[in-house]
Amino acid sequence: MIRDAATCDTSNCMAIYLEPDDLPEEQTFESALSEAGWQLGTDGHTCPACSNGQGPVLERGECPRCCGSTVDLPAGSTCHYCRHVQPYPAGIDSPIGAEIRTLGDPGRGLDPMPPHPRGM
Ligand SMILES: [Zn+2]
Ligand SMILES: [Zn+2]
Repeated sequence: MIRDAATCDTSNCMAIYLEPDDLPEEQTFESALSEAGWQLGTDGHTCPACSNGQGPVLERGECPRCCGSTVDLPAGSTCHYCRHVQPYPAGIDSPIGAEIRTLGDPGRGLDPMPPHPRGM
């Protein structure tokens, strides 16, 4: 699958925004990008962290808005940079549970290969 992506044009900033899997067909990538807090100016894209004065993003992680590293807080997984809070999925309220879910979520393309039957 080909996805649009935007990178932050601030020097040293590693922020990146990937088009979400569940982007509605009628929504453009540009509007999803600006909803995520990205600014498009004359000299390129600025990530939400840099526009808030929290950038640049120096470490990559799980943030859906800027790909910055996140920390697990009670309210959700919180981005160190743009301060976006990604709430834990319903029914899971501990960071450990959220981590298990992340590892097993087939929507992330991490589906394990089917086991090879032995003896064939
Ligand atoms: Zn940035
Ligand atoms: Zn972020």
